[in-house]
Amino acid sequence: MSTILLAAYAAALVLAGGPRLARARWVARAPGLGLYAWQMWCAAVVTGALLTGITATLHWDHTHDLVCRAWRVCLDALLGAHGTAAQALAVGGAGLLGVLAVRFALAGWRLARAERRQRRRLRGLLSLTGRAMPELGATVVPAAEPAAYLLPGGGVRDVVFTSAAVDHLTGEELHAVAAHERAHATGRHYRLVRTARLLDRAFPWAPCFATAVRQVHRLAELRADDVAVRSNPPIVLARALVALAEANARHTGTRAGGPDDASALLGADGGDATERLHRLLHRPRPLPAALTRAAAGLFTLLPLMPVAIAALQRSPLAP
Ligand SMILES: [Zn+2]
Repeated sequence: MSTILLAAYAAALVLAGGPRLARARWVARAPGLGLYAWQMWCAAVVTGALLTGITATLHWDHTHDLVCRAWRVCLDALLGAHGTAAQALAVGGAGLLGVLAVRFALAGWRLARAERRQRRRLRGLLSLTGRAMPELGATVVPAAEPAAYLLPGGGVRDVVFTSAAVDHLTGEELHAVAAHERAHATGRHYRLVRTARLLDRAFPWAPCFATAVRQVHRLAELRADDVAVRSNPPIVLARALVALAEANARHTGTRAGGPDDASALLGADGGDATERLHRLLHRPRPLPAALTRAAAGLFTLLPLMPVAIAALQRSPLAP
């Protein structure tokens, strides 16, 4: 019974919860909470799927010897000792666990390799051609394309501007953009994007995970804007966004010093540019703090629900 409930819960999250969260309008008023909601959604989907497989294979037990019995229960069910229905369920559960393990291992390995290569390339570029700009706490690399970004997984000292961006932006615009990039670092936005990307890479045929990547990216940009305007006028950051977008629209050259996988980077001009400009020019009213805390508590329950469902079934290891 819990196996069916868990499968239904995971399916409901994927088919209904994700699309609903993607349509939610309140996230524009609380992008930090929106990011947290997507993280909890990702964790809940994974926990639900894993526990579906585990409860399917460990469902048939009458014994009270811990680890050894657990293995025997699995094998007994898989070999048909508890009937055909139990065997079908156990085979399905083991298959699901196997698929999850292989897909996650492969996706994690490929993602880590791609990030390592990108980081090595960008750090190599920085060490060869980078010029420190201490007043901005950033490094400038020569490039014809205006861009500003944070090195993948980098800290507050790893903000990069291209020389074209420095040429196109005024001093106060550069400071606003640098504050935006530092907000990505302090908010550890790379980790949040990476979690969603891992799911998307593991299950590229499931559109909900591609949606999660886009939404996490979008909300990370909104959140970084909110942090940046604490120390910079919103209109200055808006002007910087427009200047970068206009310069990029005119630019037709190659990406000599820019990132080679811009979609994976948290750049200054990422996310939904129209939405960001609108939010900077018409600052939204933040959600009340109490409501934000209450909602965060509810989202925390998302990945705990499958654990509770699994615990409610008669334990396979119980006497
Ligand atoms: Zn950004």
